[in-house]
Amino acid sequence: MAEWEPVIGLEIHVQLKTETKMFCRCRNGFGGGPNTQTCPVCLAFPGALPVPNRRAIEETIKLGLALGSDIAERAVFHRKNYFYPDNPKAYQISQYDEPLCVGGRLTVPTAEGNVDVGIVRAHLEEDAAKNVHVAASGRIHGATATLVDFNRCGTPLVEIVTQPDIHSADLAKRFLKLLQQTVVELGISDAELEKGTMRFDVNVSVRPAGSSELRTRTELKNMNSFNFAAQGIEKEVARQIGIYETGGAVEQETLHFDPTNEDSPPLRSKEEAQDYRYFPEPDLVPVHPPADVVERLSTEIGELPAERIDRIARTLSFYDSEVLVTGGLDRLWSATVDAGADPKETANVLANAFVSTGVDPTRVDGFELAKLVRARAEIQREAFDEALAHLGDDGFAAEPYLAQKAVADVSALDPIIDEIVAANPGEVAAYRGGKEGLLGFFVGQVMRQTGGKADPRVVNERLREKLGA
Ligand SMILES: [Zn+2]
Repeated sequence: MAEWEPVIGLEIHVQLKTETKMFCRCRNGFGGGPNTQTCPVCLAFPGALPVPNRRAIEETIKLGLALGSDIAERAVFHRKNYFYPDNPKAYQISQYDEPLCVGGRLTVPTAEGNVDVGIVRAHLEEDAAKNVHVAASGRIHGATATLVDFNRCGTPLVEIVTQPDIHSADLAKRFLKLLQQTVVELGISDAELEKGTMRFDVNVSVRPAGSSELRTRTELKNMNSFNFAAQGIEKEVARQIGIYETGGAVEQETLHFDPTNEDSPPLRSKEEAQDYRYFPEPDLVPVHPPADVVERLSTEIGELPAERIDRIARTLSFYDSEVLVTGGLDRLWSATVDAGADPKETANVLANAFVSTGVDPTRVDGFELAKLVRARAEIQREAFDEALAHLGDDGFAAEPYLAQKAVADVSALDPIIDEIVAANPGEVAAYRGGKEGLLGFFVGQVMRQTGGKADPRVVNERLREKLGA
């Protein structure tokens, strides 16, 4: 049987969080009642003229710089003509052959090394209104009516198109998560999947492994979950392989993947560019981003998530590094390690005990956390956990917790340990018979008996000695 390679490209839409919409001064954002954030421009009244939002253009350039794109010296807005109820002008102002950002890449760190995913372009356009399908599922299939909320109509949207450089569902998911974190950190979008401020289309084809051909692709449209995207890709890859292996041909079409339904029913066949009859928007002049603005924007970009994963993976494992960066914990990790705590131990504390407290890492002083991590073995487990839970409090100080030393006194611990050993003869015999994993059971019993105040290192040591006899 032939081996097949998936070929995946992504088109991601990210809604910018500017104060106002793309071509009018209506408020951009959630909160207003349906159809309250509208005006003659975004409702397409005759004679209303668009004025571009400078901030949205700058934010798109900033994203382009972060992706290593070339920033166009001249960019043009085009009309993309199509009729749809959520689009009152019957065209969308978008960009066509002269977008703001061209080329670039996003490097995706993986356990097997970095994978470069090429960027074709990133362009700026306006969003359509929101169709609200009246159905139990909220989906168009099975809806009895559709309502239109024009609050979203005309809000700024960036579309990012990748090269078909992605060859697994897992890498697609990693790429999307990394891009999401990148735009959030750039401060240009909330990129919330649940709110639809980030959504994406996935183009999927397959080819014989080792070949470089590009076969007919299908499109999974308007996905808003990383897991569903991965599931949809895997299902579509399997479907296409099945078609080729039985001598069939894949047809170009747009599929709607619904994870609650095993089928991906076709929505419509894919439009070609000529169907949209693009032409330059006559009401807008070309954009010429000034060099000093581009220069200023480039200085506003900090160290991006992919770079931080890379850097921290030189000290810790890739896995630890990824957990820290994607969990928004790496800055606190760096501050804590800089204050003298062990890198690996700090990572463990942050990724496990700290995360479960729900404390906002940006509220934590790494200097105080470092004191706790350094003293972790000497203080009572209970005190340690309580300290973590209060790390975000104003003026938190580690000292009172550091004073609660764990009981390491053998003369205090021995009677408790003896009692537990005597009370569990079955486990003692099993341990001595080779089930050494039972040591944890005994340690747990002693910790419970002492209310978490015992020093686990001493308990371990004493138990090994007594059980080994
Ligand atoms: Zn408006």
